[in-house]
Amino acid sequence: MYKTHNCGELRISHEGNTVILSGWVHRIRALGAMLFLDIRDRFGKTQLVFDETLGPDLLLKASNLGREFVIRVEGLVRERSSKNDKMATGAVEVVVQRLDILNTSELPPFTIENETDGGEELRMQYRYLDIRRNPVQSKLLFRSKVAQAVRQLLSAKDFVEVETPILVKSTPEGARDFVVPSRLNQGCFYALPQSPQTFKQLLMVGGLDRYFQIVKCFRDEDLRADRQPEFTQIDCELSFVQRDDILEIFESFTKTLFKTILNVDLEDFQRMPYSEAIEKYGSDKPDLRFDMTIHEIKAALPTGGLSILDSAESVGALVVKGGNSYTRKQLDALSDWVKRPQIGAKGLIYVRCNDDGTTKSSVDKFYDAEARHQIKSFVGGGANDLILIMAGDYGVVRKQMGALRLHVGAEQNLIDSSKFKPLWVVDFPLLEWDNDAGRFFSMHHPFTTPSPSSLEHLESTDQRTLESLTADAYDLVINGVEIGGGSIRIAKRDLQERIFRLLGFSDEEANDQFGFLLNAFRYGAPPHGGIALGFDRLVALM
Ligand code: ASP
Repeated sequence: MYKTHNCGELRISHEGNTVILSGWVHRIRALGAMLFLDIRDRFGKTQLVFDETLGPDLLLKASNLGREFVIRVEGLVRERSSKNDKMATGAVEVVVQRLDILNTSELPPFTIENETDGGEELRMQYRYLDIRRNPVQSKLLFRSKVAQAVRQLLSAKDFVEVETPILVKSTPEGARDFVVPSRLNQGCFYALPQSPQTFKQLLMVGGLDRYFQIVKCFRDEDLRADRQPEFTQIDCELSFVQRDDILEIFESFTKTLFKTILNVDLEDFQRMPYSEAIEKYGSDKPDLRFDMTIHEIKAALPTGGLSILDSAESVGALVVKGGNSYTRKQLDALSDWVKRPQIGAKGLIYVRCNDDGTTKSSVDKFYDAEARHQIKSFVGGGANDLILIMAGDYGVVRKQMGALRLHVGAEQNLIDSSKFKPLWVVDFPLLEWDNDAGRFFSMHHPFTTPSPSSLEHLESTDQRTLESLTADAYDLVINGVEIGGGSIRIAKRDLQERIFRLLGFSDEEANDQFGFLLNAFRYGAPPHGGIALGFDRLVALM
C-alpha cells in the first residue's frame, strides 16, 4: 500500500494514528540527531521527523535523500510542539518508522516553489517539474473544475455531448487548414477541423435538438497571446431557436458558471450593434470597464484649418479626463506610440484644456482659441482634460483610436481589473470584401444566415450595398476579450447556394466541397443556430 492519506490531509484528529504517505521530498532540514523533511504531493505537504533515538539507520538513510526523491513512509502522527498555521497540516508531524525510496532524482534545474528561480524557457523545457509547482497545478485544477461545471450546466439544459470526427473534409472558419496525409489514398489529405461547424449542423438535421462538445479545433494562422494553432472550444448548437433564445440561454449559462465557480454575480449583458462598437470603441470587442468613447468631430471642425483634417473622411477624438497632467514628454511618447507600424497613424493632435478655461493645442497655428473651444465643447471636454485627435479613413481611424483608447486607459489606470463587463455584440456585417482576393468572404462563416432585412438585397451587384448587409451573428465579449461567437444558420438549400455564389463559388465547387450539407438540407433541416466559446480564454479570464 502506498498511502493511507494524502500529504495534505492529516490534522490533529489523526494524532496517534499509524499512517502511510507517499510523495516527493520537498525540503530537508538536518539538525544533527534529528532530521525534518517536508513530503509533498498535489494535495499538500506534511512534516516528517526522523529521530536518532527511534532509529539511527533510518536517520542515516534519510540524510542521503535529495530534493524530489520519491519516497514512501510509515509512521505515527503526533502533535507538533511548534505549530505552523500557514500549512493545512501544520498542527501535526509524522514520526517516521519506515522509509522506502521509490525513486531517486537528479537535482531539479529550478526550485519547486511558488516563487521559483526558473525562467520561463527553463520551466517550459522541464514542464513536468513546473507542473509540480502550486501556481501551475492550481490552474490545471481550476480548468478541470470549469470543464466539469460546463458539462453539468449544459447537460442539465438537455444538451447532448457528441464527439465529432477529427480527420475530416475541410470545415472553414476563415483560417488555413492543417492537413494529414492519407496512407490509403496516396496524394490525398485529411483536414483537421477548424471547428465542428458542419458536423453540429448535421446533428441538428439528425434531430438531436441540442448538442455540445468541449472540443479541440485546429487553425493554421499567426500566433498571438490568446490565439494558438490548437485550442479548445465549448461548441454548442440548438434547433428551433432564434437569435434571442440563444443569447438568453448563453447569458444565463455564463452567469451561472461565474456564480458557481467564482461566486460572482454578473450584471445583465448589454447588447451593442457591431456598428456602434466600431463607432464608439474602435473595436468589435469593446472593453466596457471604462468609458472614454470615441467622438466623431469631423462635423464640428471649422474648415480652412489643417488640410489633412479637412480632407480626411473621419476625424476621431478621445477625451482623457484629467489628462492635462500629461507632460510634453509623455505626449511625445504617445505620438510615437501611434506612429509605430502596429498602429500606423500619421500623427497625433492634442488639445489641452486648462483650468482657467483656455486651451492649448499642438495645432494652434491652424486653429484659433475660438475653433479650439468649439472642438472642446463638441466633445464635452472640461477643465484639466486632454483631447486626442487622429484623422484618416473611417475604418482605419476607428482601429487606431480603439488601440489608443486601450493604451491610454491602461496608462491612466482607468481599467478596474476587479470588474467583469460582459456584452453581446450583434448585427455583424454578413460579408467582408478582400482586396487581394478580389472577392467577398463571410465575416463569420458561410453558414450564417443574413438578417431578415438583408435577405432582399442578396442579388445586388453593388459592392456598397453588399457590404452593408448584416448577419444574424453575435459575439460574446467580456472585458475586451472575444469569448465566443455564433450565429443563426442557413437551413434552406437554395439560400445556402445563393450565399456560396455570392462568395464566388461555382455551383460545381459548392457541391464538391459542401454537397454533403446541401444534400442534408433536402430532408427537413430544422431552423437552428449555435455558438462556440473559447474555453481557455474563458478560464484565463475567470
Ligand atoms: N463555428 C464557429 C466558430 O468556431 C462558432 C459557431 O458559429 O457556432 O467560430
